[in-house]
Amino acid sequence: MYNLTKFILASACGCLLATSAVFAEPLADRPVVYLTFDDGPSADDVTERLLDLLAGYGAKATFFVTGQRARKAPEKISAILYAGHALGNHTHSHAVLTGESESGIESEFRRAGQAVADAGGPPLTCFRAPFGAVDSVVKRVGSSMGMTSVNWSVDTRDWDSRVHGYRILESLNRIKDGSIVLMHDGPQKREKTAAALADWLATHAHLYQFKALPQCIPYGTSEVFAVVDDQEMDVQLEEEDIPSLLNKLRSYRFTFQADSPEQARATSTYREHLASRNH
Ligand SMILES: [Zn+2]
Repeated sequence: MYNLTKFILASACGCLLATSAVFAEPLADRPVVYLTFDDGPSADDVTERLLDLLAGYGAKATFFVTGQRARKAPEKISAILYAGHALGNHTHSHAVLTGESESGIESEFRRAGQAVADAGGPPLTCFRAPFGAVDSVVKRVGSSMGMTSVNWSVDTRDWDSRVHGYRILESLNRIKDGSIVLMHDGPQKREKTAAALADWLATHAHLYQFKALPQCIPYGTSEVFAVVDDQEMDVQLEEEDIPSLLNKLRSYRFTFQADSPEQARATSTYREHLASRNH
């Protein structure tokens, strides 16, 4: 088994676009939806359920994780990245940042970023302040740390334990082109969220394309960032280069940003290739 620590391929790049031509029509004309999940990774199995669900539709999402949860479940940070989703900073302790000192805000962001980095994740390029409590000071501190603030446009209210699953479904029915949807995968007991999303995707997934928030994808959408034996590489890969590059790597980690089920299927092919190498 290789150590999966050092190689981040932050996009499907041109290689997978070329491969996708053999599959069905691209989804490029469909409205784009940005599903987001806060407060995880979960203390129960909801993160895994969401990852399975999203994978079934070739859907990508963004997970705004806390440092505390990332410390407790680093393997789930890896699983989120491995599945090609993006990560965002949701502070270390789910703190209310407005009214905090600049150093206090900086510390909350830095500790969360460090927890994700220690789990093998990339630098975080976006944040969502807990409770959406963001002001110019919070934005400025985030910006000074290389992060953009992202809130939401559709609140499913799944954070309210009194809200029934059908209310979450109703909220999902308000989704339109460009919607950023607020949901939660942690810290626990988010079964309602997973169930409502499963119901909604079953009937609506074919109408949309689901992408990770571009603000949260490090290194852009068409670049490859890799570290080979501790030497940094910044390369644009062609499809035929991937097997030979992977054969040179003693350790690697990668994330494909697939824009469609077709690309996700092409990604699976590479995963199988990688899995076969790991034996
Ligand atoms: Zn939160």
